[in-house]
Amino acid sequence: MTIKILNTANLSGIYAKDVPALAAAIANANADAIIVPGTSAVRRAIGAAALRAGAEVDTNITSVKTSGGKIVAERWFYRQRILAAFTRTAKTWVLVTDPALTGEIAGALETAGEVAVPVPDAPTATAQEGIVAAGAGGESTIKPDAKLLFVAGAGWTKKQADGATHLDEAAAAIKGFLAKSGASLGSSKSLVDMPEAAAKFDFMSHVNQVGQTGSTPRHAKGLSTCCHGEEPHVVGWRFVGERRAVNLDANCGWAQGKADVVYVGDAFEVMKKVNELL
Ligand SMILES: Cc1cc2nc3c(=O)[nH]c(=O)nc-3n(C[C@H](O)[C@H](O)[C@H](O)COP(=O)(O)OP(=O)(O)OC[C@H]3O[C@@H](n4cnc5c(N)ncnc54)[C@H](O)[C@@H]3O)c2cc1C
Repeated sequence: MTIKILNTANLSGIYAKDVPALAAAIANANADAIIVPGTSAVRRAIGAAALRAGAEVDTNITSVKTSGGKIVAERWFYRQRILAAFTRTAKTWVLVTDPALTGEIAGALETAGEVAVPVPDAPTATAQEGIVAAGAGGESTIKPDAKLLFVAGAGWTKKQADGATHLDEAAAAIKGFLAKSGASLGSSKSLVDMPEAAAKFDFMSHVNQVGQTGSTPRHAKGLSTCCHGEEPHVVGWRFVGERRAVNLDANCGWAQGKADVVYVGDAFEVMKKVNELL
């Protein structure tokens, strides 16, 4: 097991120079793993450099051990909730640590010395060969200045009373309400993680997710629809003042003191009527 430490002294902080220099350092190191202090210059360039060098890279590594002829690294996932110990077969495996931890991690291992980053010599002047027109882009559904946060949950994709899903109708109801009310769109995690939603609800993505592992919007009012109101979601509502929810389930999380008003009803029908009235 050859583990080396990267000496980053020659990095310039300029992406175009640092990527080839880091790639050369990784390729020439002839090491199974390289431990790299994750300075801002490193973090900017290391992903592209590892790709160029045919290496694999992991960041935020908190410890490295050797066990049974393998290198085992540890890092936290899911916002410091799950600590994972894992290994890779890749040679070279680039392990980026917090700079303050690199000494401690390397000190606990038998390392084969340092790898120096060569002095970067790549040209930085970029020649312009033409202009690629950007697409028109879609309208953003995240509106921090809106008065209302409208949250869509996974219920919009579930089979309804007739035993079928109604994704087109759901998308039309949500989009229709956003257009008429000017509300900002939030989502539960379950909805943005769903492939069927990704296909039909092209106006939203993971950035709309509200909650513990999502955002914490600050709208004065919030209206939740088809979202159960579980704690990991509702914690993202802590700055939302007046809260209302529409849910088929009278015992949903919102009804457990998490919303001011819960309308027990079918959000498809409620939002259709609301859109007609607006
Ligand atoms: C560590 C961790 C972090 C997490 N972080 C987040 C996070 O940041 N954000 C987040 O949202 N979740 C998060 N979760 C997941 C969270 O616990 C829930 O699983 C998730 O919020 C459930 O999403 P949902 O309420 O949309 O879906 P479901 O739980 O599937 O609820 C769907 C709801 O829709 C209702 N419904 C169905 N049809 C209708 C209808 N026609 N009219 C009205 N209501 C209807 C149902 O009654 C049900 O209440 C996290 C979980 C963990 C473990």
